[in-house]
Amino acid sequence: MPTRAPEGRKLTILLASPRGFCAGVDRAIQIVQRALERFGRPVYVRHEIVHNRHVVEELERQGAIFVEELDEIPGQFPVVFSAHGVPKSVPAEAEDRKLLYLDATCPLVSKVHREAEVHYAAGRHIVLIGHAGHPEVIGTVGQLPMGAVTLVETIADADVVTFQDPTRLAYITQTTLSIDDTIGIIEVLRRRFPTIHGPRKEDICYATTNRQSAVKSIAERCDLMLVIGAPNSSNSRRLVEVAKSCGCPSAHLVQRADEIDWNWLEAVETVGVTAGASAPELLVQQVIDELKRRFEVTIEEVSVTVETTHFKLPRALTA
Ligand code: SF4
Repeated sequence: MPTRAPEGRKLTILLASPRGFCAGVDRAIQIVQRALERFGRPVYVRHEIVHNRHVVEELERQGAIFVEELDEIPGQFPVVFSAHGVPKSVPAEAEDRKLLYLDATCPLVSKVHREAEVHYAAGRHIVLIGHAGHPEVIGTVGQLPMGAVTLVETIADADVVTFQDPTRLAYITQTTLSIDDTIGIIEVLRRRFPTIHGPRKEDICYATTNRQSAVKSIAERCDLMLVIGAPNSSNSRRLVEVAKSCGCPSAHLVQRADEIDWNWLEAVETVGVTAGASAPELLVQQVIDELKRRFEVTIEEVSVTVETTHFKLPRALTA
């Protein structure tokens, strides 16, 4: 049923599905909440547990304290490592300081860490396809000794990168990249280094893949795409790029409804709405409520798949 708005202008919302929280984000948030229940306040969290201010503020309200490094923790308090993963030096430092730590690294990121270790043990140099400075990349590089990993960010990088022994290489990828861009980079690496080892496809996770597919399925029908997510959320930023490259003339990343510039909707008849893997559904619903206040809205949910992935919590919290 269309919802009446004061101005009565019609707007169709195409709601992408899947969108929002993935199993890794859900698990990471639960780890902090269970740790608070079990150990009491405060529980420290190294780095934003997931890249979303709303989630961080909600956990702060419940008693979590966010820090960037372990030396900011003033005593013997439990600490949770974020979903993005951490270099090996971080748990080592926690052990040295005898801190109780819980690792909320997404199991799909841990899988990439193990791939890197296996290739390294086989004598291969690792090519990591990812974005410099992202915590997941820092964590993955930090699984191996200095110099064992070379970061490749773009096709241009892949075109010029050189190695001491180009016959002993393996590639791995960040989990939250654009599928199409990554395929392009892998093609260049395979062409230049035909013996390079790698996963069957890439390491982009199911949640990133599904959210990009859902955006692709509606992009051409939309005049505007609103992606709800944080500016430092890799998978959210990729959704904006995917929308534009798949035929949507305009796409914007917004953290909340109050970041929407209503001029964007001036000549819009159909708006796509999606959310990155770290954005709660509550924020999506607030955007929809705001659209309903201003337009006569019809909502069509477009689903490309149903997700059933679920990750177990660490044993320390369930025993
Ligand atoms: S986006 Fe993918 S890799 Fe990242 S937490 Fe979610 S499921 Fe794990």
